Amino acid sequence: MFCKNCGSALDPNASVCIHCGVPSGQGNQYCANCGNQLQPGAVVCMNCGFSAQQKPVAGPGSKSKLTAALLGFFLGGFGAHNFYLGYQGKAIAQLSIAIASIVLTTITCGILFPLCFISSTWALVESIMILAGSINTDANGNPLGD
Ligand SMILES: [Zn+2]
Ligand SMILES: [Zn+2]
Repeated sequence: MFCKNCGSALDPNASVCIHCGVPSGQGNQYCANCGNQLQPGAVVCMNCGFSAQQKPVAGPGSKSKLTAALLGFFLGGFGAHNFYLGYQGKAIAQLSIAIASIVLTTITCGILFPLCFISSTWALVESIMILAGSINTDANGNPLGD
């Protein structure tokens, strides 16, 4: 593995290049696979064919896509998957809608029961988006792992 900023050889476990101080994976001047200098704006390395695109890689501490989707399917009406991914605003909105729906359903002896579908349908759609990769980062922009 090579530094994409200065092209010097890089320890695969190094998080920062010891030559230029740029975080590993940052920069687009050199091929990360063979260290060859890249043409500006190159999509693949002309030397080895390795993708030169800045691909977000799921780090060790990344959130699990599967966990998020399962939370969304089973507890998503309460915003569980959004709490997990750190999307506090959406999570609180879903939780509030769920609580309001339950309260209103109880008060009206079940007449307003369909309200309960609002947040659960919303969560179901988001669970599918997580599985399909439409939602592929957590609230901090970190890519989701498997
Ligand atoms: Zn470097
Ligand atoms: Zn290369």
